[in-house]
Amino acid sequence: MIRLTEIKLPLNHAPEDLTSAITTKLKISAEQIATFVMFKRGYDARNKRNIQLIYTLDITLSDNTLTDKLLSQFESDQHVKVTPDTSYKYVGEAPADLTERPIVIGFGPCGLLAGLTLAQMGFKPIIIERGNEVRQRTKDTFGFWRQRKLNTESNVQFGEGGAGTFSDGKLYSQVKDPNHYGRKVMTEFVRAGAPDEILFVSKPHIGTYKLVSMVEKMRAEIIELGGEIRFGTRVDDIHITDNQITGVTLNNGEKLDSNHVVLAVGHSARDTFQMIYDKGIYVEAKPFSIGFRIEHKQSTIDQARFGDNAGNEILGAADYKLVHHCKNGRSVYSFCMCPGGTVVAATSEENRVVTNGMSQYSRNERNANSAIVVGIDPARDYPNHPLAGIDLQRELESLAFELGGRDYNAPAQTIGDFLKGKPDSQLGDVKPSFTPGITLTDLSKALPDFAVEAIREAIPAFNKKIQGFGSDDGLLTGVETRTSSPISIKRNKEFQSINTKGLFPAGEGAGYAGGILSAGIDGIKVAEAVAKSILKLD
Ligand code: FAD
Repeated sequence: MIRLTEIKLPLNHAPEDLTSAITTKLKISAEQIATFVMFKRGYDARNKRNIQLIYTLDITLSDNTLTDKLLSQFESDQHVKVTPDTSYKYVGEAPADLTERPIVIGFGPCGLLAGLTLAQMGFKPIIIERGNEVRQRTKDTFGFWRQRKLNTESNVQFGEGGAGTFSDGKLYSQVKDPNHYGRKVMTEFVRAGAPDEILFVSKPHIGTYKLVSMVEKMRAEIIELGGEIRFGTRVDDIHITDNQITGVTLNNGEKLDSNHVVLAVGHSARDTFQMIYDKGIYVEAKPFSIGFRIEHKQSTIDQARFGDNAGNEILGAADYKLVHHCKNGRSVYSFCMCPGGTVVAATSEENRVVTNGMSQYSRNERNANSAIVVGIDPARDYPNHPLAGIDLQRELESLAFELGGRDYNAPAQTIGDFLKGKPDSQLGDVKPSFTPGITLTDLSKALPDFAVEAIREAIPAFNKKIQGFGSDDGLLTGVETRTSSPISIKRNKEFQSINTKGLFPAGEGAGYAGGILSAGIDGIKVAEAVAKSILKLD
């Protein structure tokens, strides 16, 4: 097959224009094309009056010799290449008499893909997840949003499916992926019920409700292949003998033996981080970001990005990605943008307030939201201890709880009043989506001065890129502190902790992923590393 990249056509082109684009590019006739498939479709909306769709197409020609001829004819053209083989190949298979079972701690996207890949290779993993199975977890999470009743073990952060289950379900990442692991993640998601389009649109998303049923299907496959998943069960201790992991203790006191343990606990498992630090596992403080969620009407963003094409079905609800380097040396950027979504309460600890964002597949809620955050780092902002970033997160989340009125309302302020430094405000046109509720207050008290100063400089700069971004009516809600893990658990090229053999730190919590897709990719890589270690390959 031949892969053509960077095929550009106008937004409202006719379907047959794709065939014409192929014949023009390859200088062949339509009869010489046996079939073609769309591998990717993105868009370029920099000029909103002339939005272009950008395709990657895989073409099968009616005559194989023509394929070879064209590939050599276009040898120097980087947009005409042979279609790469992106199918997944397992690194090995567990022998039937294998007695050791690998343990996977955490059933977020990383633990899920690690567990699934291990199960598919015959390793029958035991997966331990502190939160509840996804249907019960949904009730627990909505219980907090509607009735202010927090279950500290089953919430937005903890439970089957991990942190991204109640999310926008964005499935793109900037990680380099030369071995096409991302394709396996997407293929598994489609097998579990995700829409086929996630395989070809450039910025796929699935939204919350689809994720819930997909996670259940993937769980069923793991169990069918001999794996085991224990919900409502937390790993409270790990056993190490002569720098080799030998097993774990669960919160019910049960001990499980294994020389291969995947640690995929996400960025909010603060008690688990403390436990592994106390055990002497090598941990470093890592940069992360702090800030607010910002909300605008989705129509403001659609208009600014797409102009007269706002509402186009292919484009969907508009997103954005913004960055501004401030005079005080800090950088402010948008993160986890959720078109047509809601701001959600995302704490896993009592008496703390944390924001995040989610949406449904349709992305048709009235507001757009994203985190507007300032990068911070250990050397400047939380020196002296590997876990000091967690202390800072807790301090800011507790302060937000106080500012919100101590009832899980989040502190909020209109953009206009925040920029003017005017403490008490009234809501304008943008209605808050955060539940259980917001308390209007002075948000400049919610973050360190340098962060407030940086965000006050960045919003007007962003307004130059997205008209209306800095409008008085927009709303800020605080605080956003769980943008990524505050620690990194260092691993070697065999994916094992640098000082504890058999422990495989993985996913976002260990500092190796920053989203659903990258966490899933890391899960597959770690599953391969576990398999190679057990099978003594390489
Ligand atoms: P997690 O998903 O955090 O999973 C870790 C799991 O480990 C949890 O289920 C936890 O309960 C369990 N656990 C922790 N400690 C223990 C223990 N001691 N014993 C047993 N189990 C334990 N990313 C995107 O790419 N797109 C998005 O649209 C998106 N939206 C998001 C929206 C929200 C509201 C949130 C909170 C996150 C969002 N993210 C999004 C980020 C994404 O969810 C994470 O990057 C991803 O889930 C990380 O995967 P993980 O498997 O490494 O960790």
